[in-house]
Amino acid sequence: MKRWGFMAWALLLSLSLGAAAWGDTLADVKAKGVLVAGIKDSAPPFGFIDPQTRAIVGYDVDFCKAIAKKLGVKLEIKAVTSATRMPQLIAGNIDLVAATMTITAERAKQIDFSYVYFLTGQKFLTKKGTVGKLADLEGKKIGTAKGSTSEQNAKKALPTATILSFDDYPSAFLALQQGKVVAVTTDESMLAGLLGKAPNKEAFEIPDIRISDEPYGLGIRKGDKGLLDAVNATLLEMEKSGEAAKVFEKWFGPKTD
Ligand code: GLU
Repeated sequence: MKRWGFMAWALLLSLSLGAAAWGDTLADVKAKGVLVAGIKDSAPPFGFIDPQTRAIVGYDVDFCKAIAKKLGVKLEIKAVTSATRMPQLIAGNIDLVAATMTITAERAKQIDFSYVYFLTGQKFLTKKGTVGKLADLEGKKIGTAKGSTSEQNAKKALPTATILSFDDYPSAFLALQQGKVVAVTTDESMLAGLLGKAPNKEAFEIPDIRISDEPYGLGIRKGDKGLLDAVNATLLEMEKSGEAAKVFEKWFGPKTD
């Protein structure tokens, strides 16, 4: 009895200490003078390595730069994948996630989300002329990334297909080029980014088959209200000042891939 009592007490204490430790990332970030953001390094145009500077750049980076500027601190980027972004945040290795992450009820049980800062939907990238409708993909092998909503949506939409999950989308795209899968599925914005960087673009297409809505939010530790408020205030300011539109134009405008 006593032992159980002690263990329950110890568990409660560690939970509350944990909550306290993560309770004020905003104060922490200001004290260290650095905001550590988890961003993808292989998801153009959201987060990818600039071949000239070797730095991670992209749409997600520019939003984090604006947040860091608003807080008066430097930005440090740690590369994450679809599968590692939430564990890295929860473990305290990063202060926030800006990594093409869709706001879902399931994820919101574990972390908090900012306002939506990008809206897209899930589609397929295929070899030209091979897929006209969703049913053409039944029973086929389809590539996507581990830990993504793309993986879950594809399994629901195509129950007889084999969904192969890679670490990232470029690896899934390589499998498509090698004929190991007949399609890559994820958010249209990311498929367009993959295609934009491909040397043999003409061989591929994104048929008009959309299977979900994917509103992106920035991920913050659960209950980390100070940082969440600061992030949301920045997003609103960027919207009002036209900076958000400028960032969109920079990465998705007519002069981009
Ligand atoms: N936006 C989707 C998700 O959050 C798919 C893209 C990704 O893997 O980040 O899972």
